[in-house]
Amino acid sequence: MRKKIIAGNWKMNKTPGETVALINELKPLVANDEVDVVFCVPAISIIPAMEAAKGSNISIGAENMYFEESGAYTGEIAPNMLTDVGVKYVIIGHSERREYFAETDETVNKKVLKAFEHGITPIICCGETLTQREQGITIDWIRQQIKVAFLNVTAEQAKTAVIAYEPIWAIGTGKTATSDQAEEVCAAIRSCIAEIYDDATAEEIRIQYGGSVNAKNAAELFAKADIDGGLVGGASLKPEFGNIVNYNK
Ligand code: PEP
Repeated sequence: MRKKIIAGNWKMNKTPGETVALINELKPLVANDEVDVVFCVPAISIIPAMEAAKGSNISIGAENMYFEESGAYTGEIAPNMLTDVGVKYVIIGHSERREYFAETDETVNKKVLKAFEHGITPIICCGETLTQREQGITIDWIRQQIKVAFLNVTAEQAKTAVIAYEPIWAIGTGKTATSDQAEEVCAAIRSCIAEIYDDATAEEIRIQYGGSVNAKNAAELFAKADIDGGLVGGASLKPEFGNIVNYNK
């Protein structure tokens, strides 16, 4: 039985000071040991977020990471900078990084490999545009993204990965995929993992849905057989996130 994982993606929101205040506010609301709860915050807020979350069930994650160890990469964050402060999760290849910062399936793969090398669990994002959905190529597109993201990743590593299926047309738009649409793609992702590896790996890997998840739709989405939780943007910055994390109560 896979444990659900519900992660907040704070994007470029909240100063370090505001981060501490928000974590203190949300801490009692997200106390649910039946799910893994992760807050992915801007790099500058990781350390204060760690301090604020101490003693709670919240894990702090990063929103990005570079694929080199160190060196002349102005502005980037190295994997050992994250592990040094106790980061366990990193979002890789969010559609906003692909759109505004030129990330590709190839750089996603390099980052995924580097994250595993350092013992950080990648939350690997994939998703189609509205045009691709209308053209009927969603599954082909997602399968391609997954195949490249997992190149040279071992089955043992893949078992521990988290994949976030996030239709781009549903991110930050208030338009959620129906639970059937989300399940169809998450099931296809699991089949793709079974093809690349084997059934045991596909059974263990956790697949989230992301795209305008809120307190009203979370329970229906997370009840689907292949949806193991969510990656939540806007609603993760509000007390509503507590209702999403406690979708099963
Ligand atoms: C996201 O940032 O990954 C996301 C899904 O955002 P939202 O929940 O706001 O659509």
